[in-house]
Amino acid sequence: MAKILNPDICVIGGGAAGLSVAAGAAAFGVPVVLVERGRMGGDCLNFGCVPSKALIAAAKHAQAIRAAGEFGIAAGEPVVDYERLQARVHAVIGAIAPHDSAERFESLGVKVIADTARFVDDRTVATGDHIIRARRFVIAIGSSPAIPAIPGLAEAPYLTNETLFDLKRLPEHLVIVGAGPVGMEMAQAYRRIGARVTVVEAGKALSSGDPELAAIVLEAIRAEGTVLHEQTAILSVERQADGVRLLCENAQGRFAVDGSDLLLAAGRVPNHASLDLGAAGIRHDAKGIAVGADLRTSNRRVYAIGDATGGLQFTHVASYHARLVLQQILFRMPAREERDIVPRVTFTDPELAQVGLGEAEAREKFGRIDVVRWDFSANDRARTDGLDRGLIKITVGRRGRIIGAAIAGAGAGEMINGFAFAIANRLTLKHFRGYVAPYPTLSEIGKQASISYYAPVARNPLVRSVIGMLRYFG
Ligand SMILES: Cc1cc2nc3c(=O)[nH]c(=O)nc-3n(C[C@H](O)[C@H](O)[C@H](O)COP(=O)(O)OP(=O)(O)OC[C@H]3O[C@@H](n4cnc5c(N)ncnc54)[C@H](O)[C@@H]3O)c2cc1C
Repeated sequence: MAKILNPDICVIGGGAAGLSVAAGAAAFGVPVVLVERGRMGGDCLNFGCVPSKALIAAAKHAQAIRAAGEFGIAAGEPVVDYERLQARVHAVIGAIAPHDSAERFESLGVKVIADTARFVDDRTVATGDHIIRARRFVIAIGSSPAIPAIPGLAEAPYLTNETLFDLKRLPEHLVIVGAGPVGMEMAQAYRRIGARVTVVEAGKALSSGDPELAAIVLEAIRAEGTVLHEQTAILSVERQADGVRLLCENAQGRFAVDGSDLLLAAGRVPNHASLDLGAAGIRHDAKGIAVGADLRTSNRRVYAIGDATGGLQFTHVASYHARLVLQQILFRMPAREERDIVPRVTFTDPELAQVGLGEAEAREKFGRIDVVRWDFSANDRARTDGLDRGLIKITVGRRGRIIGAAIAGAGAGEMINGFAFAIANRLTLKHFRGYVAPYPTLSEIGKQASISYYAPVARNPLVRSVIGMLRYFG
């Protein structure tokens, strides 16, 4: 007989989004039930951010050995022990896992149910052993890798982010479908640790950001030996004795790509199939669960957050959504998602980071804008460290208001923090110009760009004559 629970909040999904809601509610002593059907920590910890960044870190070490000659140190081809590399990736996951574990959440006061949840009506969720009637539900069911409809793919062996990090041997030739952030991060990392890599992309690679900055990153990745076919259709996939064959077509004609392994990185689909959203009157489509800016679904009792909404799919968005939902449920305060304050980072080398409106979007919205540019090669730290390949572009509105920033370069993911802070707090370039940046740091690039915005003031005849007059006073 199913046990009936009546918590204030029922959270469905124990990934970054769901865990943040559960931990926040429990901290205020609010009864909360969390249902997770798979691994606590969700995609980010188990199959996403954490393993991919641990792999990228290993790949950076490998690349540093190749590039050491520039610094007067003997360079060479790194010897990669793939098993040890993967073991470290899993050790990193293991070290973080206790923080997201059912035991920790139980100790915080959350009732954790390891099962699949589904709606049975507009105010009830069922699992195998429980009926949950909560005052509010938060759907945080995340997303899964999209499997494109390519003839032959279903019969061919392929990897996704859910299986890639369990691969026991280094692929000889990794073929990646999709040149978005996940595809390009993995392409560069696998190339650096010694695989041949080919990426096939139907449109343009890294197309969601500033094209000029994406070009800087793509040039660097291509220079390391990754082959990238953009605007290329995959007509079919065929299983071969020693891997896969993709039949491709682009403006140059048809060609085949033979690989030892195939990785799909062609976008994400929401996990809502098992949830029976219709039973609760929750509107959804193939992209995700429909929500308003307040993250409420068409059922007023139910919120949806994180990847499940099909919006910006990042871990920091999942926790941002969690905060907005907690603000509404616990404090009955209105909250609205602001997408312009969310930074987006691709952890290639150089990194690609963006926040706020890009140049094209800002021109469309505001008409007249300024774009301040500063090249990494004009920064002393970039020079000392051999990191002078990069560019920052700051989009500036009236009275110096920062409305966007985009960076391609080393440390872009760290540097974008300052601009995310500035945009969230509606700051201007004057604020950026006014703070003292430590020397020599890459972060000075943002400050140098801000100073350059005000450079014309030094040539202004009125300003010059005022300075000239003041000189008479000694
Ligand atoms: C390779 C890769 C690298 C990434 N790197 C980054 C990065 O560097 N930085 C970044 O910000 N983002 C990154 N992301 C994106 C990030 O992982 C996701 O945005 C984030 O994990 C979303 O969190 P979530 O809680 O919405 O969903 P998830 O983490 O997917 O969690 C959802 C959970 O719900 C559970 N669930 C689903 N249905 C049910 C059900 N019916 N009942 C019970 N439980 C259910 C699932 O088992 C899952 O554990 C990366 C993604 C990938 C794939």
